[in-house]
Amino acid sequence: MTFNTPSESQLVDTNPKPPSIYLDKVGIIGAGPAGLAAAIALEKQGLDVHIFERTKAFRPIGAGVTLSPNGVKSLAAIDADIVQQLKQQGSQLNRFRIRTTRGWPILNQPVKDDEYDQPFLAIRWFSLQEIMRAKLPPEILHLNHQLIHFEQNQQSVNLSFDNGETASVDLLIGADGIRSVVRKQLFGLEDPAYGGWMTWRGVQKYQHRLLPPHHTTIFAKRGKSLILLDNGQGYLSWALEMINPTIHRSQHPEAAKARVLQELDHWHPALQELIKLTDADTIVERPVCEPIILPQWSNGRVTLIGDAAHPMAPFLGQGTNTTFEDVWALSTCLSQQDNLEAALDQYEASRIERAQTIQYRTMFSAAQMRNPFLRPQWFKTSLGEVPKQAKVSEKAFSDWLYQYDPSAQA
Ligand SMILES: Cc1cc2nc3c(=O)[nH]c(=O)nc-3n(C[C@H](O)[C@H](O)[C@H](O)COP(=O)(O)OP(=O)(O)OC[C@H]3O[C@@H](n4cnc5c(N)ncnc54)[C@H](O)[C@@H]3O)c2cc1C
Repeated sequence: MTFNTPSESQLVDTNPKPPSIYLDKVGIIGAGPAGLAAAIALEKQGLDVHIFERTKAFRPIGAGVTLSPNGVKSLAAIDADIVQQLKQQGSQLNRFRIRTTRGWPILNQPVKDDEYDQPFLAIRWFSLQEIMRAKLPPEILHLNHQLIHFEQNQQSVNLSFDNGETASVDLLIGADGIRSVVRKQLFGLEDPAYGGWMTWRGVQKYQHRLLPPHHTTIFAKRGKSLILLDNGQGYLSWALEMINPTIHRSQHPEAAKARVLQELDHWHPALQELIKLTDADTIVERPVCEPIILPQWSNGRVTLIGDAAHPMAPFLGQGTNTTFEDVWALSTCLSQQDNLEAALDQYEASRIERAQTIQYRTMFSAAQMRNPFLRPQWFKTSLGEVPKQAKVSEKAFSDWLYQYDPSAQA
């Protein structure tokens, strides 16, 4: 494994101190937004970073992502140029609309971001991934490496992969998503249970007068919504989210596409046309899982970030955004502390309460989609006591969420 020396501009860019000598090799499991962002941040500290990803090859999958000001600010702290590229390639959202399934207007309002320092951005998932991957030396990305087991001792963490290879690192970061193997082994937890919702996502070049540039439009009825986002460069992303009491898995891509078309039967013809144009092979079908509220994210030389640390449903669009918050906090703590234990303690102390509050508020959003009369102050769940900040009004919660200042944390 090679030691990567950062350029001087990288070091002065975001990190006040060079890395402490206790840490050299860092292994990251997963090349999703969490893993890529963590590698970018830690590479800048001069650490010998390696990402191990089970996928055999990256391919364009059909999803778009909304980045909100808290996520954009965190990503800008990690690498300001990434945000510049996102602004050029993606779309800055300026209007939010809700329509009936047949297209009649229900709500039409501007997106207010002037109090939050950064805009709301929508971009194709694959573009985000490509922009981030281009920031990393290709040799640190090890595809076709599915982690099956790790063992840690005082000095290192030893990793075993399904292809028979092994590696030894000083710090292991589990960025392996909602069904994290690292989380499972670290805390002996099962995967999250099915949450009663299914989602299908796609991206397609498409134009229609109901779906103008820079708009988010939701076509909805009780228990079923189709969310459409301008992703920039002529692309439109769509996500169908619906209550489905039992988990559904399509046998093949064409069956998933047929299911979406069936669910949108009698909705506005433009929506049917959009789905028909979408390549079935790129449609992503995902069950929504119940959250897991973890009181602790680290143990010894192993820690968690992103969906592995705080799995949540997609209803607030905060999964990736919270992930970028984690990454900036973790990299700051690693650069500030002289030993790993202190760094991971500081990371948890700065992150867990906020991430849990977002998890609970996401649960509230799911409950409110079932019962529109539910108010946040009344919200209760069997998954523990709801934090006060998750029970405030929508405006107060949005301000708390989006006014987040990464430089004031950790
Ligand atoms: C319908 C829908 C819409 C969403 N919309 C938004 C949105 O608008 N905004 C937002 O912020 N979030 C959104 N999210 C949430 C977002 O997708 C996740 O929060 C985000 O992808 C989490 O990133 P991650 O890197 O932690 O995990 P992932 O993206 O899941 O990445 C994990 C990576 O780890 C790899 N991996 C897993 N196990 C192993 C292993 N054992 N060994 C090696 N590699 C492994 C996987 O292949 C994968 O590449 C949405 C989610 C859904 C389902």
